[in-house]
Amino acid sequence: MGASERASAIVELDQTAVGRLSRMDSLQSQSMAKNLRERENVKLALILEALKRVEQGRYGLCLACGEPIGIGRLTVFPESRECSECGG
Ligand SMILES: [Zn+2]
Repeated sequence: MGASERASAIVELDQTAVGRLSRMDSLQSQSMAKNLRERENVKLALILEALKRVEQGRYGLCLACGEPIGIGRLTVFPESRECSECGG
């Protein structure tokens, strides 16, 4: 299959998917998208806070007990504000 055939196959699939969306489905995906955006905003705020702590030289320290947050936790949740003991 050439690149242009693959591209038109993808377009066809998309149109079918959109055509199948009922009004309920589209309302549901709108609210899911809204929830997702809200979660993303919360995460973004945490990341911006973490960046501020980097500037202040306090990044990686638990806000509750002041102990260094484990590197494992920071690897998974770089925006962590608390160590695993304080933050759970
Ligand atoms: Zn702590």
